Amino acid sequence: MTESRPAVDMEKLVSLCRRRGFIFPSSEIYGGLSSCWDYGPLGVELKRNIKQAWWRAVVQQRDDMVGLDASILMHPQVWQASGHVEGFSDPLVECKSCHKRWRSDELESDKCPDCGGELTEPKLFNLMFKTFIGPVEDEANIVYLRPETAQGMFVNFENVLNTTRKRLPFGIAQIGKSFRNEVTTGNFIFRCREFEQMEIEFFVKPGTDKEWFDYWVEERLNWYVSLGIKKENLKLREHTKEELAHYARECYDINYLYPMGWAEMEGIANRGDFDLVEHAKSSGKGLNYYDEETKEHIVPYIIEPSAGVDRTALAVLCDAYDEDVADGEIRVLLHLHPSIAPIKVAVLPLSRKETLAPLSKEVYAELRQHWMTSFDEAQSIGRRYRRQDEIGTPFCVTIDFDSLEDKQVTIRERDSLRQIRVPIESLKNTLQAKLDGEDLFVLPEGGKIWKGG
Ligand code: ATP
Repeated sequence: MTESRPAVDMEKLVSLCRRRGFIFPSSEIYGGLSSCWDYGPLGVELKRNIKQAWWRAVVQQRDDMVGLDASILMHPQVWQASGHVEGFSDPLVECKSCHKRWRSDELESDKCPDCGGELTEPKLFNLMFKTFIGPVEDEANIVYLRPETAQGMFVNFENVLNTTRKRLPFGIAQIGKSFRNEVTTGNFIFRCREFEQMEIEFFVKPGTDKEWFDYWVEERLNWYVSLGIKKENLKLREHTKEELAHYARECYDINYLYPMGWAEMEGIANRGDFDLVEHAKSSGKGLNYYDEETKEHIVPYIIEPSAGVDRTALAVLCDAYDEDVADGEIRVLLHLHPSIAPIKVAVLPLSRKETLAPLSKEVYAELRQHWMTSFDEAQSIGRRYRRQDEIGTPFCVTIDFDSLEDKQVTIRERDSLRQIRVPIESLKNTLQAKLDGEDLFVLPEGGKIWKGG
């Protein structure tokens, strides 16, 4: 099978994100901070749309899932019980010549990849960021910035069970920041030291875990396809017995073909009863479930689909990036799925002449009540279309001098460049239908094909 690769290399994408206000280096005026990034005006919209799409699919549209927003700082015992204090580490080696540090499990030879120098013996380096709670900075007051959101859901298992009266199988979903003091960094937002996760802990009866595991692998893969990611750029990878984490019975990664190659976008693990058993032991609380059918207390097994917001954002950007030729010029465009495009509609008066302003502003005021809408009247209409294409805006609405007479406007589609002319009074409903996937040439009453048919 030939591998298709996203048409973009990382440098081009980083430059587009910087130039158009998707993503900036953190604290850029001070030279940036390694592996920390700020999402700009368009990036924040993209990220919010991804999170919203996930929440809609896993919480809003399901009867068997509830949400949670646990605090980032947790009792230090949480990280003892989870095994993170003991085991959440990477083997680190240092080059004796250039002093650069590397993860030894990622190296292909025993020499420094940069200068070929000799490397030190590996030392385990814990990835959790430490800080202190309260005014005294001593051992007794150490807390950690969470390296995953999952533990917040395990320790709230009983709270959720008692307050929602959910029966097995059911899940808890959470979106939030996590922090890891990663050893190897780079590849833009693929590996950050501060990042956002979208995690599900799905509690099931032991014995049904395999079935639910398979269900979630398929469900999650389909979700990426529903965001517009090409199937051929997605691949499942099963963890071998040797690489399975200490808590996992089975694990699959959903890998995406990033510009640097296939890499993990989401991990799905069957964690068995590890987490509830360990937290029950450590806290002294009985974290179990009364099964009314068998009249027994059982410890549920947990299926965990754990996704990264930043890695999803990177994948959708890579997948959407394209260059084609329009009107004899190279056109850069993002084929973003309308559900995640930062701006859904741009309102563009054909000219800056004052006669067009009142109607244009009126249309803009109406549309922005429904979607993120932008208004742009600077420079030629061709230039303005290009600007919207480059940030992935699916539709532009143009108001021209005829609009003043016939009360109609033109809708132009980003991907096909086709245009239709529709009455202003049906503009909102028409756009809604197009954003929901209806073909552009399905016309409202009084509408007509304008260009590109
Ligand atoms: P890797 O092997 O790439 O370090 P991981 O297996 O440690 O990843 P998990 O612990 O399974 O990652 O975390 C679940 C998800 O959280 C990942 O699939 C990824 O999307 C996201 N994630 C983890 N670490 C980072 C990071 N440093 N930066 C951005 N996203 C991350």
